[in-house]
Amino acid sequence: MDKKLEQSVLEKKARELLVERGVTLKDIAELVYYLQSKYHENLSMDDCLYNVDRVLEKREVQNAILTGIQLDKLAEKKMLEEPLQTTIEIDEGLYGVDEIIAFSIVNVYGSIGFTNYGYIDKQKPGILQRLNDKSTGECHTFLDDIVGAIAAAASSRLAHAAEDAK
Ligand code: MG
Repeated sequence: MDKKLEQSVLEKKARELLVERGVTLKDIAELVYYLQSKYHENLSMDDCLYNVDRVLEKREVQNAILTGIQLDKLAEKKMLEEPLQTTIEIDEGLYGVDEIIAFSIVNVYGSIGFTNYGYIDKQKPGILQRLNDKSTGECHTFLDDIVGAIAAAASSRLAHAAEDAK
């Protein structure tokens, strides 16, 4: 049986899921600006948005979004089996699979992404702060890492493009 998925289906659903979970491209672009404005003179929000948009065209990124958000949603509805349910629900510190999934995104544009990811994951600016607010009853154990990773990958893309332009 040939069950091949059109990439456009993945991309559409991944973009819809981000919005459904309260994350806009502008939120992610603001993280890119936060990471990159000190390195690029005259960096505009449009540049940041453009690079976030290109990152979302990658299949690895779409798959990470689909997988991570699905697990967040199931945990929120208490539909996972134990002990995974509690692990994801309380965002258990030693779990680490959320970060592994994020690394598949960071990897897409090479190793400078890792530095950006580590930095933004510690600082938690903007949307990342909201996603880490445990008082909302929402579960974003995977999404916070995914959003940080998309911003890190977009930053790497932007840095490479600027280097190529020189
Ligand atoms: Mg996490």
